[in-house]
Amino acid sequence: MHRNGPTEDIDESALSVTAPKEQAAGVTAVAVSLKRAVDEMGVIRTARTLARVNQVHGFDCPGCAWPEPTGHRRPAEFCENGAKAVAEEATVRTVTPEFFAAHSLDDLADKSGYWLGQQGRLTHPMVLRPGDTHYSPIAWDDAYRLIADHLGDLVSPDEAVFYTSGRTSNETAFLYQTLVRSFGTNNLPDCSNMCHESSGAALVSSIGIGKGSVSIDDFAAADLIIVAGQNPGTNHPRMLSALAGAKTKGAKIIAINPLPETGLLGFRDPQTVKGFTTGVSIADHFLQIRLGGDMALFQALGRLLFEAEDRAPGTVVDREFVDAHCAGFAEYEKQVRAVDFDTVLAATGLSKAELDRTAQQLAESKNIIICWAMGLTQQAHGVATIEEATNLLLLRGIIGKPGAGVCPVRGHSNVQGDRTMGIWEKMPDAFLDALDREFGITSPRKHGFDTVDAIRAMRDGRASVFFGMGGNFVSATPDTAVTEAALRTCALTVQVSTKLNRSHVVHGRTALILPTLGRTDQDLRDGTKQQVSVEDSMSMVHLSTGRLKPVSQHLRSEVAIVCDLALTLFGADHPVPWARFRGDYDTIRDAISRVVPGCADYNTRVRARNGFVLPHPPRDSREFRTSTGKANFAVNELSWTPVPEGRLILQTLRSHDQYNTTIYGLDDRYRGVHGGRKVVLVHPDDITALGFAEDDLVDVISEWTDGTERSVKGFRLIAYPTPRGNAAAYYPETNPLVPLDHVAARSNTPVSKSVTIRLERAAHE
Ligand code: SF4
Repeated sequence: MHRNGPTEDIDESALSVTAPKEQAAGVTAVAVSLKRAVDEMGVIRTARTLARVNQVHGFDCPGCAWPEPTGHRRPAEFCENGAKAVAEEATVRTVTPEFFAAHSLDDLADKSGYWLGQQGRLTHPMVLRPGDTHYSPIAWDDAYRLIADHLGDLVSPDEAVFYTSGRTSNETAFLYQTLVRSFGTNNLPDCSNMCHESSGAALVSSIGIGKGSVSIDDFAAADLIIVAGQNPGTNHPRMLSALAGAKTKGAKIIAINPLPETGLLGFRDPQTVKGFTTGVSIADHFLQIRLGGDMALFQALGRLLFEAEDRAPGTVVDREFVDAHCAGFAEYEKQVRAVDFDTVLAATGLSKAELDRTAQQLAESKNIIICWAMGLTQQAHGVATIEEATNLLLLRGIIGKPGAGVCPVRGHSNVQGDRTMGIWEKMPDAFLDALDREFGITSPRKHGFDTVDAIRAMRDGRASVFFGMGGNFVSATPDTAVTEAALRTCALTVQVSTKLNRSHVVHGRTALILPTLGRTDQDLRDGTKQQVSVEDSMSMVHLSTGRLKPVSQHLRSEVAIVCDLALTLFGADHPVPWARFRGDYDTIRDAISRVVPGCADYNTRVRARNGFVLPHPPRDSREFRTSTGKANFAVNELSWTPVPEGRLILQTLRSHDQYNTTIYGLDDRYRGVHGGRKVVLVHPDDITALGFAEDDLVDVISEWTDGTERSVKGFRLIAYPTPRGNAAAYYPETNPLVPLDHVAARSNTPVSKSVTIRLERAAHE
């Protein structure tokens, strides 16, 4: 049953371009899903696996964190990208010790991330010792001993970095942070540092909790849904069903985005009759905003709402809500009434008529949801932008009522759950106190490194052991040359992985690959089937049960890896019962129920049909646990991103055939880019104005405030309907352009959606 991966790598000369699509999903999505699944898994495994994705007794999709419906679930409760994510994980292609013997590190380092990922599932623990040219097999116990020895050699526990990807289950995350804190550090960076950290910072400040306040059912009760800085058609495709459903119930949808992404414009739900015929339009209004103009837009809408209130007093501002629940209203009113519309029009590229129409819809709607993703969070002023969006909802009094609220749409499937379980470099003392009480350990209180600070620490020699619990750190992070150099300075890098990726070929002096089970795999502990749990983007916690026979008997679950490492590191007398946890995940959930807020009686409640929802005080009871005890109107000085003469502002983004750093294929069919990835999308008038022609080969150079420049070479110019002055290109290929120090204020999130670039004709054209 096992197969080898393809031998061909990406051939950029095969790149072709067609017109962007006008409707997302449809029959093509079904056909692509099935083809990819059968190619990777074969017919029988495909049928067995896809039938269980996101079902009540099935497994959680390893793609995004979009929630499942609380009522009836359809037989195919997944999207095209969910099917691709499952196919990638459940593939029967394998990467064995023979593969590593046949491929040197130099050979693998020349391959693209796409090629590496396509080779299949890792089957054995592997080690690379100083001077080795190839990875070679290592016994699990020897691997644990090697890690423990390196950790033991450190002068301080703070010289180790323990990264977490958003795939990691709640049970693993809870034990992993317990191990790391038992070891003595809070160095727990995660992928959330690079995506929704800005959302957390803004929402904690504004409403007292860093999570969204809506449920999936709220979409059906909304009058107006704003989707800002987000591309649901590719990144959270089942959200299109929720949006289409809301529209049939009368909701209006406004999409705010620099690119007219296909999923924002039209949708063919392949599970409805209409999806096979005409499809539905999603956005009633599309505001094509310039990169970084959202904060200006939200402030202008605030001013327009106050002016609407002046014209019809008592109809727009919810004084009862504001007076009872909010602080800072007068300061906010003063600030936004002074907003200059000319500045806003320059910042956003929108017309005054578009602003007026949007404000009118906000004023006339009773139930409003604002959704957003990386388009807002990965801006230098991302935190302030989200606060300004929240201000609008506070003004209308619509936090804590059905059909309304804030909705940061999370990326990786359990990124929110990992944070709930304690994966954060600065967990509150109350959590650490509870953890210490439960286990009789003493967790450090000094804050640890987030992702950017972890790279700085490795770069500067202040950290020398890197442990990655899942993910592909080197491809997910900014400033690739700096990050790669930082990892290479480490004495030891450890990657717990399902598949081969670039982080295995950019390594410390000693490197380990520890192969682990995926979501789809059956997890047997001492002969008993185990389940794990996850939390979706809307705070629903539920079980996930894999059923497939693992591709190798040498795989270990992430829980087992954490427990075995802890036993090697701390010994059997450690106060945390690692051996018990390893054999019975219910015992982990019992501990979670005593430590993690909102998780009481976890084992019982997580087994309910839809699991259970975690508490959210603003949503549940209009209780705001902020510094003032009220919901805070934020006052922010307007910040936006002007385009310097002869330059462009670049955003990095995914193709439709990609999820985070995993490249599924080379067909970004919604945008019409096929067969290659080294492209830069630029407005046709900018291409001409900058002295180029469509299809030219260019080098892309980013310019940073300290005078340094970074470049990537040989990108094809594609004429695309971006806003003037803006450009777009895929990551991770363009991560090298994002300076490590280009981070959002107050969240330290890399600003990947606002990079100043210039184009130069490629020397080898
Ligand atoms: S919307 Fe997200 S969670 Fe749902 S099937 Fe698609 S990728 Fe998976």
